[in-house]
Amino acid sequence: MSENENSLIDELIASYENNNNREEWLAREERRVELFKQLKPSAHRKLNEAIEKQIVDDNYSMNEMLNDLLIFTDFNIDSLLKFWIENGEVNLSGYLFRGAESQTEELLFKLINDDFSDRTIFALEYLPWCNSSKAFNQFVEWKKRPPKWSKRLNAPIEDYPEVAGWELDDKYNKRLLYSPLCHALNIAFIQTDESTSDKCPLCDRPLIRLQLVPYAVAEVIQGFGIETIHMPFCNLCSRFDLGSMSVLKDGMMKIDTENIYKDTVPDWIKEDDNLSGDLILKKDAQSRDPYFAAPEWSKYRYSQLGGFPTWIQHPEHQKCPTCSKRMFFFLQFQEEEVFADQRDATFHFFYCTLCKDRFYVNQQFT
Ligand SMILES: [Zn+2]
Ligand SMILES: [Zn+2]
Repeated sequence: MSENENSLIDELIASYENNNNREEWLAREERRVELFKQLKPSAHRKLNEAIEKQIVDDNYSMNEMLNDLLIFTDFNIDSLLKFWIENGEVNLSGYLFRGAESQTEELLFKLINDDFSDRTIFALEYLPWCNSSKAFNQFVEWKKRPPKWSKRLNAPIEDYPEVAGWELDDKYNKRLLYSPLCHALNIAFIQTDESTSDKCPLCDRPLIRLQLVPYAVAEVIQGFGIETIHMPFCNLCSRFDLGSMSVLKDGMMKIDTENIYKDTVPDWIKEDDNLSGDLILKKDAQSRDPYFAAPEWSKYRYSQLGGFPTWIQHPEHQKCPTCSKRMFFFLQFQEEEVFADQRDATFHFFYCTLCKDRFYVNQQFT
């Protein structure tokens, strides 16, 4: 073990410490990719030990580091997942189980079969990420015959796969709720004259339009055949369920005023500054790993077309008001990447792949 390898591991781990300076963070990200390239298999044991120590100290940012190890290296994280379950507070993230080996999966089954506890609930959030047919078939079985203990869960047991971005359809087939294809997005905001904008029916402020480029969207939504559209949404009312639903009629996108938030919109929204303009998408030519932005506290470039969403709060695919099926996630952006006056929200965009004319914007925030 060389001195160099020691300092490389120390630098890697330190690079996951919290930092609110966005530019520094981006520089660290670039540096990390370099460090990962220098990480030789001979350093893996030492790295494993160093991360175990962080897990014992409840260093939550190791979720992010393990996620990066899966994306950028061939380091096997399974022994760390087992170690974390057995020795740490169980607060690791489900997406780390996406490549879990059968032994790791067995450990989850064991947690579920032991007496019902908080650890059962954690295991239920990890299991839908496991790629095996055994894990999948277990959810089919549970959907057909929910176990007695499932009454103690906060949600029906068949809803648990949503945390991993899929659901069982009526025929017990797996229906993916996001695209495994992913491109980072640069989103430019071009301010326009307020008088040219439609008004939000809830807060009466101007609507913002997202310009969707059809060939780009078709890559992540199968069968998306809609010409270039300007999708209107309210950047504040999209905080509410059904606050910003749009519908396509005669080639034009309109705010769907039928399916709208029914409660009173708070005054702070009505009194907020007006913002009107177009959000123009530009995707990176190169694709990126669909789980790149999965860690919810990372300060990565969140904005992306396709890929797995960054859930700041609990996963929530809005159900389409027409067909009541979960909508498909296809795009997200981080407010601070687009607007100068940011509120730290992440905007998620959904499309109903069954009705093919309904769009929905939702935002989650810290
Ligand atoms: Zn509004
Ligand atoms: Zn629908």
